[in-house]
Amino acid sequence: MQYSPKMLQDQLDKNAFHLKKKFGQNFITDENLIDSIVTKADIDKDTLVLEIGPGAGSLTCKLVQNAGQVVCFEIDTTLKDILTENLKNHQNVEIIFEDFLTADVSCVLSKYDFRKIYVVANLPYYITTPILNRIIESEIDVDKIVVMVQKEVGDRFRAKPGTRDYSSLSVYLNYYYDVKKLIDVSRNVFIPKPNVDSIVVEFTKKDRLELANRDLFFKLVRDSFTQKRKNLRNNLRSYDLDKIEKVLSKYGFDLSSRAEQLSIDIFVDIANNLN
Ligand code: SAM
Repeated sequence: MQYSPKMLQDQLDKNAFHLKKKFGQNFITDENLIDSIVTKADIDKDTLVLEIGPGAGSLTCKLVQNAGQVVCFEIDTTLKDILTENLKNHQNVEIIFEDFLTADVSCVLSKYDFRKIYVVANLPYYITTPILNRIIESEIDVDKIVVMVQKEVGDRFRAKPGTRDYSSLSVYLNYYYDVKKLIDVSRNVFIPKPNVDSIVVEFTKKDRLELANRDLFFKLVRDSFTQKRKNLRNNLRSYDLDKIEKVLSKYGFDLSSRAEQLSIDIFVDIANNLN
């Protein structure tokens, strides 16, 4: 299917479909942007692509041509007819009409056997962070994530220690992935036009420091950032503070330091010493 704003709008009208703000529905209308996302994601037939929020299927139509299998999660069941029509010539796509945040994604993916798993999506902006958290905290071994996000949010993913934007999500993301901006996207290529510009960001799996206990690491990082203005002594009251202090002192920090000052390696070192 070739896309243009008019064709997409006509199809939505024909199906009496109304775009829903509550689901963060801003559909891509620019064929060149879709091509560019799929080309840069570098997908091949050994790849299973997980798409969150296929919408009318504009990106999905290109993904199915390149990937071995595409699995989509879409919350809006009223998109069923449009998606069925637009993907009718492709066998390698499964669409699950469920909320990605509560669906058992690992169970769905376990019936497929692919060498690589990529997440490729134009994310609903109101839940960008919960979606990425869910991907990271799930047991799914995702090799690459290529997602369109709100520009300011994308910049936060790349935040370095000591900066205002550094958060628990930046620690998780940068522990697992190298983060890179791929494309600047104008707000004019969506219907409806959002109030913000977007970027496409790529996360590529990287070699990482050994973790003795992954769950403990996640909890420690989350707890350290609970109250950003408070120091580690306050946020980590329920932990063995002597052990934590010992590790911190190796790096020139102490319990009066704040989570946003600590690099990923320090969090890993603390978690491994608490185990
Ligand atoms: N991929 C389409 C495109 O680029 O044109 C649509 C992208 S639109 C920004 C986000 C999509 O995510 C919408 O189709 C919306 O219905 C869907 N969505 C919103 N919340 C969701 C959730 N919790 N789980 C699954 N899909 C969701």
